[in-house]
Amino acid sequence: MVRSARGFAFLLLLFLEPCFPGAATSAPAGQAENGRAVGPSRVSLPVWLGNQAGSPPPNIVNGARRYMSRIFEKIGVQVVWAEDPKAAPQSVVALIVPDARAAALRIADTEALAVTLGDERPGGCVYLFFGRVERTAAQHRVDTSFVLGSAQAHETAHFLLHGNAHGRSGLMRASWGDQEFRLMRGGMLLFSRGEGEAIRDQTRTLTADGRMAP
Ligand SMILES: [Zn+2]
Repeated sequence: MVRSARGFAFLLLLFLEPCFPGAATSAPAGQAENGRAVGPSRVSLPVWLGNQAGSPPPNIVNGARRYMSRIFEKIGVQVVWAEDPKAAPQSVVALIVPDARAAALRIADTEALAVTLGDERPGGCVYLFFGRVERTAAQHRVDTSFVLGSAQAHETAHFLLHGNAHGRSGLMRASWGDQEFRLMRGGMLLFSRGEGEAIRDQTRTLTADGRMAP
């Protein structure tokens, strides 16, 4: 879960119910240097992003895809955007939904921009609450696609790593404040080196044992 700071909260992850079996893909490993993979060994991560909110125009959704892809490129993971979830069931599944869906999902935190719901294994569903994302972007004077892409990147880490993947600062901070939005504006709200390595390793593992596939 990620939220925009207002007051404070230390938020535990919610892993309530499976929505979709998890999955993704790829190649051999690379060496990491300063949190960034080097060499030819990149890992591919299949992601399907659905839009059930209706309102986000395609340029915002596509902009969010590009923004998230750049975040993952920094850690040596290539996001492969699936066109059809049925064609790529073993992928990260994310849905842009109206804010009202939060109540249906029993998400009590009204400041949550996004959540990942899953079970005891890696996988689940990422939900992005578009109205909240849009209002937060306006409040912090950040492009809406940047907030949407960053929130999806944050939740994708939860999807892959399971458990409390939160950090004290940066992209994986549970509650984004002014500093996180300032970094986001400049395209510098990223995974830490350790987070990047864990995401890369887990993606490689899920691919190797067939739980994810491009
Ligand atoms: Zn979180």
